[in-house]
Amino acid sequence: AVRLENVSFSYGDAPLVFDVGFAASKITAVMGPSGSGKSTLLNLVAGFEMPRSGRVLIGGIDVSAQPPSARPVSMVFQENNLFAHLSVEQNVGLGRSPSLRLSDADRVLIAGAIERTGLAGKEKRLPRELSGGERQRVALARVLVRDRPVLLLDEPFASLGPALRDDMLDLVAGVHADRPMTVLFVTHQPEDARRIGQNVVFLDNGSVAATGAAADFFAGAGPEVFQRYIGAGP
Ligand code: ATP
Ligand code: MG
Repeated sequence: AVRLENVSFSYGDAPLVFDVGFAASKITAVMGPSGSGKSTLLNLVAGFEMPRSGRVLIGGIDVSAQPPSARPVSMVFQENNLFAHLSVEQNVGLGRSPSLRLSDADRVLIAGAIERTGLAGKEKRLPRELSGGERQRVALARVLVRDRPVLLLDEPFASLGPALRDDMLDLVAGVHADRPMTVLFVTHQPEDARRIGQNVVFLDNGSVAATGAAADFFAGAGPEVFQRYIGAGP
């Protein structure tokens, strides 16, 4: 579970304020207009940014002072996730060992993740020899072998077409079903949030405007600010 308590943050003059709790073992869609603070929220959980005040808790433990490498978190970004000079299997392998010193058990895990993400046969290719969607699959395979309890996805599939995006979303949902973890999934697409989101956190102007069960929100029971955003409201 991920919890932010009275977290405030600012890049400069304009303060961003978050105060949210996320249920454990669920996929939470992080939604809101551009600039509302979605990436910032994920960066605070990952430790790439530190709160000015308040605490970030993961599994009940205060990680506010921990550097990103110490946090039980892995993250996939919108782009530039891969090392250009490393092959698919090496990029995935980095999820097991930053120095690529891999055990036989690691190699089995890596091959399994490559298979699962539909990359079998492309192990030796370099990122530039892959399509955009395949590159994002490699990034996803790498976080799968990392096997952390919190997975942060910052619009990793935004550049993909709808069919491929659905495949990737179903893959995330399938992985989550096999091994429950907390997934924070930033998306601009209401249909993506609806497809795999169990909870919704809706940000507006640097604050949490609404949180709740995705089923309720998409059935029209969510707050007006959310309904307006997804275009279903008045
Ligand atoms: P988008 O949907 O466009 O990705 P977002 O919801 O992820 O937007 P953030 O990137 O979290 O929004 O940005 C929140 C606010 O902080 C915005 O006003 C943005 O301009 C500002 N901001 C983000 N990164 C920085 C930075 N490194 N330095 C200064 N301001 C920043
Ligand atoms: Mg963003």
